[in-house]
Amino acid sequence: MAEVTVSQFAEVLKVPVDRLLVQLDQAGIKVTGPDARISDDAKLELLTHLRRAHGSEEAAGDGAPRKITLKRKTQSELKVSANQGRARTVNVEVRRTRNYIKRDVLEEQARVQQDEIDSRKREAEEAARAATEKVEAERRERERLEAENRRRVEEEETRRRAQEDARRQAEQRTRDDEARRTREREEHERRAGDRERPEVAPAPVRPAPAAAAPDGATRYGRQELHVAGDVSSRYKKKKRTRARPLPAAGGEGRHGFEMPTAPVKRDVAIGETVTVAELAQKMAVKANEVIKVLMNMGVMVTINQPIDQDTAVLVAEEMGHTAKLVKENQIEEGLQGEQSAEETEPRPPVVTVMGHVDHGKTSLLDYIRRTKVAAGEAGGITQHIGAYHVETDKGVITFLDTPGHAAFTAMRARGARATDVVVLVVAADDGVMPQTIEAIQHARAANVPIVVAVNKIDKGDADPERVRTELSKYEVISEEWGGQNIFVPVSARTGQGVDQLLDAILLQAEVLELRAPRTGLASGIVIESSVEKGRGAVATVLVKRGTLKMGDPIIAGTEFGRVRAMFDENGKPVQEALPSMPVVVLGLAAAPNAGDELLAAESERKAREVALYRQGKFRDVKLARQATRAEDVFSQMGEAKAGVVAVLIKADVQGSSEALREALTKLSTDEVQVKIIASGLGGITVSDVQLAAASRALIIGFNVRADAGARDAVKETGVEVRYYSIIYEAIDDVKQMMSGMLQPEIKEQIVGIAQVREVFRSSKFGVVAGCLVTEGFVRRNNPIRVLRDNVVIFEGALESLKRFKDDAGEVRAGTECGVGVKNYQDVRVGDQIECFARVEVARTLQ
Ligand code: GDP
Ligand code: MG
Repeated sequence: MAEVTVSQFAEVLKVPVDRLLVQLDQAGIKVTGPDARISDDAKLELLTHLRRAHGSEEAAGDGAPRKITLKRKTQSELKVSANQGRARTVNVEVRRTRNYIKRDVLEEQARVQQDEIDSRKREAEEAARAATEKVEAERRERERLEAENRRRVEEEETRRRAQEDARRQAEQRTRDDEARRTREREEHERRAGDRERPEVAPAPVRPAPAAAAPDGATRYGRQELHVAGDVSSRYKKKKRTRARPLPAAGGEGRHGFEMPTAPVKRDVAIGETVTVAELAQKMAVKANEVIKVLMNMGVMVTINQPIDQDTAVLVAEEMGHTAKLVKENQIEEGLQGEQSAEETEPRPPVVTVMGHVDHGKTSLLDYIRRTKVAAGEAGGITQHIGAYHVETDKGVITFLDTPGHAAFTAMRARGARATDVVVLVVAADDGVMPQTIEAIQHARAANVPIVVAVNKIDKGDADPERVRTELSKYEVISEEWGGQNIFVPVSARTGQGVDQLLDAILLQAEVLELRAPRTGLASGIVIESSVEKGRGAVATVLVKRGTLKMGDPIIAGTEFGRVRAMFDENGKPVQEALPSMPVVVLGLAAAPNAGDELLAAESERKAREVALYRQGKFRDVKLARQATRAEDVFSQMGEAKAGVVAVLIKADVQGSSEALREALTKLSTDEVQVKIIASGLGGITVSDVQLAAASRALIIGFNVRADAGARDAVKETGVEVRYYSIIYEAIDDVKQMMSGMLQPEIKEQIVGIAQVREVFRSSKFGVVAGCLVTEGFVRRNNPIRVLRDNVVIFEGALESLKRFKDDAGEVRAGTECGVGVKNYQDVRVGDQIECFARVEVARTLQ
């Protein structure tokens, strides 16, 4: 293109000259005027400028692609011939638009745009999703709230209905009562009227009511009845109108209700035990889910099985809920009502005598009892009750006559602290022995002060100083040596030093400042218990606080009842028992456990409620513990490999059985385990023998014997039965059995048995039992035991043995004889006299 003037160029570009001039100026091209010449370079420059300006303009605009648009408009005229032959001229304008767009820019643009569109789309989508989600969540929340409200309304409704029912029933009852009362009143009035009529008013007194109510009701009564009937129908109506639509609404809602998909976190209240089904319900999941979770934890359960609290908590947390532990003994509160803070008063000390076997515990207690306890009244049932009290010039002392420290520990394990002072008996001729050390350890553990009785000082080889020295090694140091313990040299044989011992005990008690309230409902500890024919459950109880009275509703462990009778240690009936007093209590439904707390309750109803609750809980807890854990199965398999000595224990009193169980279980070592398969009270029965046979267990009869059927079963099954009256011996035997060292010799041999057929009382010989010897021999000089229902009730010697009128040294099976038991007046028809012999066997000590 040749050089043109600005105006010509404007013509070409189809822009007004002024505008071109402005554009040129903007582009920085100096031109003088429309007629100035413009070079090709200048034109190019203008073009670039315009292009740039355009671009920037466009960029500043809405981000459209960079382009240059050139518009060309052509105008032309068309001659159109019309219908009427008249020609008409039409202006036709053709506009052509051509766009010059840089391709890369466009592509860039397109990409940017696409991105933009994409992101916008995404945003939009997200927004939409968020919106729908929000709506959904709101809907769910709404639904949940609705469901909850519905449930609440339903609950409210059922509660209301229940209340209304109750109210209606109550009303009905009052109405009935009223009606009855009215009827009674009428009846009464009528009768009165009848009576009065002839005297006061010969004519009918109330003709009008009689007319109004031909059935004999008064007008008053009728009215009342009528009103009541109205009330009832009104309630009924109300109930119907209100009750109907609601369940319907609830039903509809249930159909529309969807289970929320998001997990709901709940607070799950968990008591001491809970069944799988209950737990599932609390978490609002299917029981199967819970079972699955438990299985993963290695616990195999069924739906109705109770699981313990710890496991339940784990499950709840595993399933994403918060576990809340619930205190369950609320029901136990208020058992004794509101106990005001009573004033405490000094109480006697309770003493347990401990020490090594044969060091003289029993002898010492016997001496104290013989000399200090008032003899039982004639005819009273004198028997071993496990505790008794001694009245000295300086005060009262209660002795617990438990089977040694094992029972002491068993009781302590139950949290019952019965003992204030321990008297440690050490034989001066024997010194400190293994059980002496054990006794010290037990007393220490229970934080009970020790008074040392250095016994058998009458013996020639007695060496009290040696005892003092040996005990100091175990930090039992006499006061003379600057220690804390009172040492008293005594002799259970001569009684020497016994008074000083009692003084020392009282001195020790004074230091302890023992006090207890004497008023209010009693609480105590069961020392031992048994079931006796004709007397039922018999519990020896040591009162700890308050006063236990005849007729008091009581609860001990899981048993409840009412104090039907109370006896002191001499078998004398007592009306009440004060703190530190041991009494035999009759009236519990079954024998409680030694160590159980006995509580007098405010009412029998409350006692029963708590007992039933405890029974249920006890069963639940026991079942929960039994839940078969996979690991237990394996450990049991492991156990089978190790040696197991299985034992079945039958004992006369709970204390002994408990003590044996405890002591024998403790013997278990890594190689050999002692397993108590069962323990119980009373004579050995056929079922005991069968159980023992099935478990290949040894039966230990502690002061009890096998009945006739059981003896046959023993012969049949070959089960080993051993009788003991000393715990230590039983423990020793089992110990030896464990190490395979048990000697086959029997230490105690039953020589013979006699059945008591008649009982005579003679002024000369006292009580004489007419017996038939049924097995073996009865020998005059052998020790004997008196058995009642296969339980040993007395151990001692014979006073006399007679064949007809003559003294006899020995009476054989099938013959009758007369027997007088030394120091025992309570032989009854049906009792058995067991004659036995002790065979000394050299025992392997270890
Ligand atoms: P426990 O096993 O601790 O109850 O001891 P026992 O009371 O059964 O006594 C065992 C033996 O020691 C019996 O033969 C008693 O007669 C005897 N014994 C107990 N105390 C004394 C005592 O003070 N002096 C003498 N010489 N013998 C005693
Ligand atoms: Mg003894």
